[in-house]
Amino acid sequence: MRLLLVEDSDRLQELLGETLRQAGYGLDVVGTVAGMLESAATVSYDLLIVDLGLPDGDGLDAINALRTQGFVKPILIITARGSVHERISGLDSGADDYLPKPFNHGELLARVRALLRRPGDLSGPVLRVGSVMVDEAAAEAHSGGKLLDLRLSERRLLLVLMRRAGAVVAKASIESALSEQGRELSSNAVEALVSRTRKVLVESGADVSIETVRGVGYALKPMPK
Ligand code: CA
Repeated sequence: MRLLLVEDSDRLQELLGETLRQAGYGLDVVGTVAGMLESAATVSYDLLIVDLGLPDGDGLDAINALRTQGFVKPILIITARGSVHERISGLDSGADDYLPKPFNHGELLARVRALLRRPGDLSGPVLRVGSVMVDEAAAEAHSGGKLLDLRLSERRLLLVLMRRAGAVVAKASIESALSEQGRELSSNAVEALVSRTRKVLVESGADVSIETVRGVGYALKPMPK
C-alpha cells in the first residue's frame, strides 16, 4: 500500500511519516498543492492524507480538482478547521473522511485502515457490497442473485454510494455525479432516487441500506442484525 501525505508542517511530516511508515505503509510526503497534484498524477496511490492549509493554496480546491479529473482513491482530510460546517465542505469537496487536528495517531491509523478496506477503485466492472452486486458492463444490479428493478439513474446512485460504502456521501456530490452535462439534477430529484432505490433494496431483502445523514448526505451501510 502506498500513501501520499500532503502536509506543510515539518514537524507533522516527521511525526505522521514515522507513524505511517512504522505501520508498514509506503509513504511519499509533499508540502504543497502543486506537489500533491503532480504526485497524484504520476504515482498510483492507494490513499491520500491531505492537510487543508497549504502554502500555495487550499487543500479543498486541490481535492476538488483531483476528483474532477477522475481520481477515485480515498482521501482523508487532516486539518485544524474542525467545525461542522467545515467538515461538510470537506466531504462536499470529494474527501471520504475528515480528522480534525490534533488527533491521536492510533485513530489516524484506524481511519486509514477503514478507508483502505472500501471498494474505492472504479476500474473493476463489478462492485459488491454485502449482498448487493452491480455489474457496470451489463448495466445490472443484483442482490442475493435476484435482479434489482432499478432504473439507470437509480443504479448510478447505488454505484456512487457503493464506491464509498460506509462513508457519508454529500448530497451535493451525488447531485454532481448524477447530473448529465447541461442537465442539473435538483436536490428533490436526489431524494426521490434515494427513496425509490431504498425501497427496492428493502423489498429485495438486501443486507445493506441507505441511511440519511441529516443535512449532509447519504451512506450505504450494512443492516443492523
Ligand atoms: Ca498546514
